[in-house]
Amino acid sequence: MRMLIMGPPGAGKGTQSKKISQDFGIPEISTGALFRTHVANQTELGAIVSAIMEKGELVPDAVTVAMLDDRLTQPDTAPGFLLDGFPRTVAQADALDQILATLDVDLDVVLSFNVDQETLIQRMLKRAAIEGRSDDNEETIRRRFEVYTAQTEPLLALYRDRGILVEIDGMGTVDEVHARIMEALKK
Ligand code: AMP
Repeated sequence: MRMLIMGPPGAGKGTQSKKISQDFGIPEISTGALFRTHVANQTELGAIVSAIMEKGELVPDAVTVAMLDDRLTQPDTAPGFLLDGFPRTVAQADALDQILATLDVDLDVVLSFNVDQETLIQRMLKRAAIEGRSDDNEETIRRRFEVYTAQTEPLLALYRDRGILVEIDGMGTVDEVHARIMEALKK
């Protein structure tokens, strides 16, 4: 199973990715988490991306694609994978197509979460209090929404046209949303 999980910040992508990854025995690959690890480990890449992330902007495509390409060619992705937070731009979606063509595999499904904006903001502020993510402050949250709407949301149409987009109602508890995903994936 090769899938993408898409949706605005705070839609529950990370939480649901972890559950799906366990259910299907496939690695969950989050570009945001990979970048956060680089920042925490103070790598060269971490130094490049930390200020960009703090502002809620996107890391340049070339940097992100190179990191993802490297990750997708690791052997644990052979049974499949779940990408969380990639692609976020048209250029990244094109790059993903090329990487998958090189690996001779296809995407099976793109999950997209629909959650109302007020719920999203409340969830993110709550997460900020619990996890202390430095990009979960109000100004950055606003910017991440703008970036999502301008750069990432248009990708949904691309996957809808390919017939692989599955829209999920992301409102409700973690378990309710997870049950909806499993039901949708059975079809
Ligand atoms: P996330 O954990 O997915 O919310 O990502 C946190 C931050 O990492 C984003 O606000 C971006 O600064 C950066 N980031 C994560 N994934 C990407 C991506 N695919 N392209 C560019 N920047 C990304």
